Amino acid sequence: MSRYEEFYRQSVDAPEAFWAEQARLIDWKTPPTQVLDASRPPFARWFVDGTTNLCHNAVDRHLAARGDQPALIFVSTETGTEKTYSFRELHAEVQRTAASLIALGVAKGDRVLIYMPMVPEAAFAMLACARIGAIHCVVFGGFASGSLAARIEDAEPKVVVSADAGSRGGKVIAYKPLLDEAIRISKHKPPAVLLTDRGLAPMALTAGRDHLAAELNLKHGGTEVPCTWLAATGISYTIYTSGTTGKPKGVQRDVGGYAVALAASMKHIFDGRPGETYFSTSDIGWVVGHSYIVYGPLIGGMATLMYEGLPTQGIDKQPDGGIWWRLVEKYKVTVMFSAPTAVRVLKKQDPALLKKYDLSSLRALFLAGEPLDEPTARWIAGGLGVPIIDNYWQTESGWPIITIANGVEQKPSKFGSPGVPMYGFRVKILHESTGEELTGANEKGVVVIEGPTPPGFMQTVWKDDKRFVDSYWKSIPGKMVYSTFDWGIRDEDGYFYILGRTDDVINVAGHRLGTREIEESISGHAGVAEVAVVGVADALKGQVAMAFVVPRDGGAVTNAGAALKLEGEIMKVVADQLGALARPARVRFVNGLPKTRSGKLLRRAIQAVCEQRDPGDLTTIDDPATLQQIKQLLSSD
Ligand code: ATP
Ligand code: MG
Repeated sequence: MSRYEEFYRQSVDAPEAFWAEQARLIDWKTPPTQVLDASRPPFARWFVDGTTNLCHNAVDRHLAARGDQPALIFVSTETGTEKTYSFRELHAEVQRTAASLIALGVAKGDRVLIYMPMVPEAAFAMLACARIGAIHCVVFGGFASGSLAARIEDAEPKVVVSADAGSRGGKVIAYKPLLDEAIRISKHKPPAVLLTDRGLAPMALTAGRDHLAAELNLKHGGTEVPCTWLAATGISYTIYTSGTTGKPKGVQRDVGGYAVALAASMKHIFDGRPGETYFSTSDIGWVVGHSYIVYGPLIGGMATLMYEGLPTQGIDKQPDGGIWWRLVEKYKVTVMFSAPTAVRVLKKQDPALLKKYDLSSLRALFLAGEPLDEPTARWIAGGLGVPIIDNYWQTESGWPIITIANGVEQKPSKFGSPGVPMYGFRVKILHESTGEELTGANEKGVVVIEGPTPPGFMQTVWKDDKRFVDSYWKSIPGKMVYSTFDWGIRDEDGYFYILGRTDDVINVAGHRLGTREIEESISGHAGVAEVAVVGVADALKGQVAMAFVVPRDGGAVTNAGAALKLEGEIMKVVADQLGALARPARVRFVNGLPKTRSGKLLRRAIQAVCEQRDPGDLTTIDDPATLQQIKQLLSSD
C-alpha cells in the first residue's frame, strides 16, 4: 500500500482516531473528547463537545510567533492599491470591525450579510463575525438586486456590510443603489447597514440605518474584543451554491469541523507552510474564497494575497497579461489557486509572459470549479513548469473531494482527472437507477459520497433540514448516500474523471454520453477556444448533442464558409474519437458562452433556449448577450 493509500484507509476505517489526530492542528479552548456523533444520519456532528473559534485560529494564534509578518496582502489593479497587513494589524482591524458590529446590535447567532467587493474590509468583516459568533452570509458583490433581496430574506440579517462600489475592468459598479433596491423589495428589513466608502461612487445614506465604517472605526479604534468560544458544532456561516443548475441552496457550515478540515488541507493537500504566501484568485463570494482566501491560509499561518481586478491589467491600470506572475515573484507565492476559466483567459495572452518572472517560489497551481480540459492543462503546465493540480469539490464540501494530496505523498496527476478521493471522503460510483455500486474500471455512473461526511462538509441547508435530506440524500433508490449530481468514472488506477452533471448526460438512441466527453474531444481541435455541448430533445433519437464553439479566431462566427469548414472538421474529430453517435447534430459558432458569475458554463440555459423553453433563473448569469446571440442564431434557421 502506498503512503497515501494507507492514510486514506485510516481516514475511512477509523475516522474518529484519524480526525482526533487532525484536530491537533488547531487551537481549542476545550479540546473535544467526543470526535464524531453520527447517531442521526445523514447528519454528522464533529468534535461534539469541543469549543474553539475560527478567528482565534486564523489570527490571534499567530500573534506570538509571527505578529509582524504579513497576514493579508491586498492588491487591486482596479484602484491601483497595494497594501500589506501584518497579523498584528489584521488583529486590530478585525477587533475594530467586531466592535462596530456589536455597537450595531450584533450578537452571537445573529446573521451578518456581507455584500462587498474584493477589499480587505470584506475579510475583516468575515473574521469579525467569526470572532463574536455571528453567522456571516457573503453574497457575491455586484449581484443584481433581485438575487440579493432573496438572500436577505433567507438570511434575515441584523446588519448588512457593504461598500459604495466595486470595479471590474475599470468599470465602476455602484453597489449602494443595488443594495437599497434589494432592501426595498425584501420582506426582511435589516435594521443597520455598515458601509465602506471607497470614494468610487456617491452614496445616499438612509438616516438611522446606514453607518459609515470610517466613523464607527474612529469610535472603536483600539477596542479589544475577545474571541467568543463557540461550540465546534455551532454555525460559522451560510453560503449559496453557484446556481448553475437552478435555484441556489443555502449551505450551512460548522465551526470546529471546518477549522480542522482547512488546517488539515493546508498541510496534506496544498502543502503550504507558515510564513509563506498563498494566492487564490477566486472571490470571497464563492466557497473557494471562504476556504482559501480567508480562512485556510490564515489558519495555516500563511499570508493570503487578496486580489481585485482582471488577470490582464497591471497596478498602473495599463494592460498587463503577466500581472499574476509578477505578484507570484514579488510576494514569493508558494501555493496558487485559480480556475480553468481564468487560465483560458490567460491563454489568449503572450506565452512569453509566463517566462518573464522568477516563479521559482511556486510549488503548485491548483485549479477548481469546472472541468479542466487537457489542452488548457498542458498549456499552463508547460508554461509554469510546476505541477498543475486539478481539484474537484463543491460549495457543499467546503474543501477538495477529489484531488492529489502531495503533502502526504507525491503522486503524479493525470490530465483530465482531478485525482483520487481525499481522506475522509468515501467516494463511490453508483448506477443512477439501480443504485448498484460500479467498481469496474471506466464504468459510468453518479459520483456519490457515503456518510458520515468528513469535517468541513455542510451541516445542513440553512433553516431547512428536510431540504438537505431530500435534495441531497434521497436521489439514489434504496440507498442513503450524498449525491454530487455529477457523472463520472474511475480508471484502473483509481483516478476519477468527472464527465459532467447528471443533468447534462445525453441519451442518444439509448447511449449515455456525458457532455464533458464530447466537449473534451472538441476542445482538442486547434481552432477551438471554448466549447459547450448540450443535449436537445429530438423526435427521432431521443436527444442529440448540440455544440456551441467560441473559435480561436472570429472568422467562423462571421463567415459562413469558414464556419462550414470548421464544423466539418470538428464533427470528424468527435466521430473519430468517440464514435458517430457522439457527433453533434450541429456545431454553432459564437463570440462567448453564457456563464455564471463564477465562470461556470450555464448549459441548462443554453439547453432551454435550444428547446425553446424559458431559461429560468438567470440571476447569476454574467453576460446575458451571450445567450441572446445563441437565441438569434437558432431563430435565423
Ligand atoms: P448549483 O449547485 O447551484 O447548481 P454549482 O454546482 O455550479 O451550482 P458549485 O458548488 O460552485 O455550484 O460547483 C460545484 C460543481 O462544479 C461540481 O458539482 C462540479 O459539477 C463542478 N466542478 C467543480 N470542480 C470541478 C473539477 N475540478 N472538475 C470538474 N467539475 C468540477
Ligand atoms: Mg451544485
